Amino acid sequence: ETSVEHLIPQISGTKDQQQAVNQIHDQFNITTEKATSIVEQFIEEMQKGLDHEGATVPMIPSFVTGRPTGDEKGKYLALDLGGTNLRVCEFELKGGGLFTVHQQKYVVAEELKTGEMRHLCDFIADCVDNFVCEYGSDHAQADEHLQLGFTFSFAVNQTDINRGTLMHWTKGFNCSGAINKDVVIMLQDAFMRKNIHVNIAALVNDTVGTLMANAYRHPDTSMGIILGTGTNAAYYEKLTNIKKWRGGEQVFEEMVINMEWGAFDRERRVLPLTMYDNKLDRESINPREQLFEKMMSGMYLGEISRNAILHFVDHRVLFCGLSSPELNKQWGFETSYMSTVVDDNSADLEQVRHILEETLQIPATTLGDRQVVQVICKAVGRRAARLAACGIAGVLAHTKELDNESAVAIDGSVYEFFPHFEKHMMEALEELFGDQATKRIKFSLARDGSGFGAAMIAMMAHKAALAKSK
Ligand code: BGC
Ligand code: MG
Repeated sequence: ETSVEHLIPQISGTKDQQQAVNQIHDQFNITTEKATSIVEQFIEEMQKGLDHEGATVPMIPSFVTGRPTGDEKGKYLALDLGGTNLRVCEFELKGGGLFTVHQQKYVVAEELKTGEMRHLCDFIADCVDNFVCEYGSDHAQADEHLQLGFTFSFAVNQTDINRGTLMHWTKGFNCSGAINKDVVIMLQDAFMRKNIHVNIAALVNDTVGTLMANAYRHPDTSMGIILGTGTNAAYYEKLTNIKKWRGGEQVFEEMVINMEWGAFDRERRVLPLTMYDNKLDRESINPREQLFEKMMSGMYLGEISRNAILHFVDHRVLFCGLSSPELNKQWGFETSYMSTVVDDNSADLEQVRHILEETLQIPATTLGDRQVVQVICKAVGRRAARLAACGIAGVLAHTKELDNESAVAIDGSVYEFFPHFEKHMMEALEELFGDQATKRIKFSLARDGSGFGAAMIAMMAHKAALAKSK
């Protein structure tokens, strides 16, 4: 019996509050049995995605076929869009696994995220121009284009290493005039309008970039995962398993697949959605989509917690039934607050009090109130970690990677900053596979790896293009 019974926390609040805690535990706990059925369904959906177009989990061929050797050399630009910031970087690959980087972050205004795609592209082009002029080294001949890897962290139907059409937006982006359009052509046009001599050599999902970046130093890397604002994963798949591949001449045996796992279970077969999840989904700009992502990623965890807190306010279990304008605002409870709340080990939960009373302006809280809020945040975070583990388990079982040592590269704020996230993931993996297999899985934080990975893929693509034209 490997199943670990997760204990229901006992708090010192009122009877109603203890009952609320029991209820939260029931609603958010994913038992080993439940996890097992999620993994089974997940593997089935992966197979559908590899088999045909239009499946729920799209399993997108990335056109990235090689593994880096670590000996790559040269200067390449990378552009990273899709999380919190826009980043422009210049990498110098020096061989021997070494590189240097300088980079600049730019804030993408909310209006740009939901305005016209052309305006977003103009803004990105201006950022690249600014970076190249102010920070870029003077390696470019006037007539020579700089090569850029474009990390675009959305679901793109990739048609070549530097071509792909946007399937749909996620994570709060919703620009008009972009769906079904080629994002590389749109951005390259903006470069041309502004006379910027940069060539987009590769279009890369952040998970693919993360995988490649990690593989530069650890060739046995099998997966790249993002657990940040959004969530997704990429892994190496045998070409013979990609039944839907129609790519012609096949001089390679494997290709990185961008899974877009956030789309998993659109049919609501197995995910244990609570009423708090349903409320979030209904009020989101992409209702019924990305359910797995909505239960797991940084953009949403705070909002799920807020919905649960408000539920217990309405039932007069919390704060004597009082809320505040701050707490009533959609997205008003940020996921970063959860880390502070979960991490508070003080007897009177002083940090939790601070967030509730100072940041969120709730008039007064009791220790019982604060304990319930902490239980909610812990439960939402733990569930997210266990769901992430289900996704990882699905991939590793499918690729039979568990027979070998396996390095899994992970990036993103949730993985990096949510307390005990990795521990909860490991626990779930142990319940699913036993501790022997789990010992062979090595997670490593690949912070900001996607930019580096994109630069490297740009290099590989550029060299391949040069070789072809000779
Ligand atoms: C996007 C993915 C991306 C992930 C992590 C999701 O919302 O659909 O393409 O990899 O977020 O950034
Ligand atoms: Mg990112």
